[in-house]
Amino acid sequence: MHELGLMDAMLRVVKRVCEEERLERVERIVLEVGELSGVEIPYLYDGFRAVAHGTEFEGAELAVETVPGVLHCIDCDIDFPLKDQELFCPECFGKNLSIKSGRDMTLKSIEGN
Ligand SMILES: [Zn+2]
Repeated sequence: MHELGLMDAMLRVVKRVCEEERLERVERIVLEVGELSGVEIPYLYDGFRAVAHGTEFEGAELAVETVPGVLHCIDCDIDFPLKDQELFCPECFGKNLSIKSGRDMTLKSIEGN
């Protein structure tokens, strides 16, 4: 499961931030996940529970915010939102596309004290 590895890596970043910010207790971790990242959000919650189990992060709340996917048609030079997973340009119906946003998973914020 790909998401388990992602959460493992994410938790390592959280740990480092906690050390830097001297946070003793993390209450909430907010992630931004792009619609085009290929990440299955339900698996993120499962992955988080698995990697946080038995650590100081067990019991922290994980919140996931989705970032809309935006595509760019190279032929028409326009940007358009991803809709219904249809991967073609609404103008020319072409597939000469690049991803403008929504490809990444990022750690948005950590709340704690
Ligand atoms: Zn086009």
